[in-house]
Amino acid sequence: MSEFKRPNSTAEFNQNFAQEYPLMNDTEAYYESSRCLFCHDAPCIKACPTGIDIPLFIRQINTDNAIGAAQTIYNSNYFGAACGKVCPTEVLCEGACVYNHQDVKPIDIGRLQNFATQKAIEQNSLLFAPPTDNGRKVAVIGGGPAGISCACELRMHGYQVDIYEAKAHPSGLTIYGVAPYKITNEEVLLEMDYLQKQFNFNILYNKKIATKEDIAALEQTYDAVFIGIGLGETRNIGLNVEEMENCYGAVEFIEELRMKQHETMVGKKVIILGGGNTAMDAASESARMGADTVILAYRRDKSAMGAYAFEYELAKKVGVKGWFNVTPKAIVGTDKVTGVQFARTATIDGRLKTVEGSEFVEACDMVILATGQSKQTTFLGQITDLELDKKGKILVNEHFQT
Ligand code: SF4
Repeated sequence: MSEFKRPNSTAEFNQNFAQEYPLMNDTEAYYESSRCLFCHDAPCIKACPTGIDIPLFIRQINTDNAIGAAQTIYNSNYFGAACGKVCPTEVLCEGACVYNHQDVKPIDIGRLQNFATQKAIEQNSLLFAPPTDNGRKVAVIGGGPAGISCACELRMHGYQVDIYEAKAHPSGLTIYGVAPYKITNEEVLLEMDYLQKQFNFNILYNKKIATKEDIAALEQTYDAVFIGIGLGETRNIGLNVEEMENCYGAVEFIEELRMKQHETMVGKKVIILGGGNTAMDAASESARMGADTVILAYRRDKSAMGAYAFEYELAKKVGVKGWFNVTPKAIVGTDKVTGVQFARTATIDGRLKTVEGSEFVEACDMVILATGQSKQTTFLGQITDLELDKKGKILVNEHFQT
């Protein structure tokens, strides 16, 4: 049984989705940064996908230079504030911190990162100044993390940049796809404003590039086109979800929740299908929206789940129940979902098999499919001479050019 009451106002929504770790104050940041050993061959840097010089920025915080620390962070990662909150630091930088070998709590790197970036954003410290225009123009398709980062980088080389974004806000999944208890819409948009002010790129909102003609027009107008479109809708796994009300894709559900907040419809008993991090988010969010029961159903055993262990623990903490070795066979109901028909599974000779005669129906009034996202192959297929691999990914050379 979920401990959360259904939120009926923004205030109640914010309460249910409160962040686990608030921002550090100056004393906390000073104390925490003092613990860092400033390792010479710092494993935390190697574990950071963007290679931020972590000991350097921690030392800068420790010497009362939070803005210098923010500069160090943004030099490697234009989404410095968002990543401090959203990154799975437990398995990346903090997971690699040398303190883990001594059974001592690792340095709170993510929160220190946010301490520095928050100061820079609050104080409107402008850290970057693009050079004069070099006379060339680039179109960026998609205003997500890849598109915005590409725009920042291009501006630092003097290119003019127009970003074509299909939706009403920048930052892609950061605003549309991350659980609100990790980062709020306001926090995301503040960082995006902060970047736009410094790099001065243009974003054209609600401007979907969809057709062959759209693409041809970009190719004629610009010197280069950057494709940063990310992934598409939730992938169906052959279930009859389209015919039924109250069946959602996880990314679509999370997007609605982020935009409509407490006005989002959530059932009393919700079944989430999947075992990845998006499934965990959708499950936690359903519980925080006041669903009485939330079941996370995964076809393999717990150890095979794609989700990080801490994400599953987070979901369990808010009352989500994990069901393992069950596979969905059909969504039950006429117009509206009334349940899911499952069969039990077992791994036999290394292969996952359905146990014969093990079918059963679990009643519910909402189903969320967290079965991965589809590639945007229809869109990519319209670009003349663009090579894709068998999985629908764009083939590039060593300079990431098509
Ligand atoms: Fe500091 Fe830990 Fe990184 Fe060493 S591994 S530099 S102690 S954060």
